[in-house]
Amino acid sequence: MSGGWAGSNRRAELPPDWYTHIRPFVLARDEYRCRNRIDGVVCGRTANQVDHIGDRHDHRPEMLQALCAECHAAKSSRQGNDARWTVRMTRPPERHPGLL
Ligand SMILES: [Zn+2]
Repeated sequence: MSGGWAGSNRRAELPPDWYTHIRPFVLARDEYRCRNRIDGVVCGRTANQVDHIGDRHDHRPEMLQALCAECHAAKSSRQGNDARWTVRMTRPPERHPGLL
């Protein structure tokens, strides 16, 4: 694989054993399944990304989780836009069409 790092300084923030030890460990521990929860349901798609649950400088295995590409992209784009997303995620209750 190549690319994806252009214009990013993220690589510098990762520890030297990220690709050799930490990342493969987390993916194997999570069985290469996305652990993201969407409305309380685990995504479960094939994961090829490792995400920081909390602080992105916290590389402890318990603070890392496997994510699929879609969830990782969604989460990354959400960071920094939390205020906007909070509004969007509070959906109004739907009226049940069969309720009279
Ligand atoms: Zn996912």
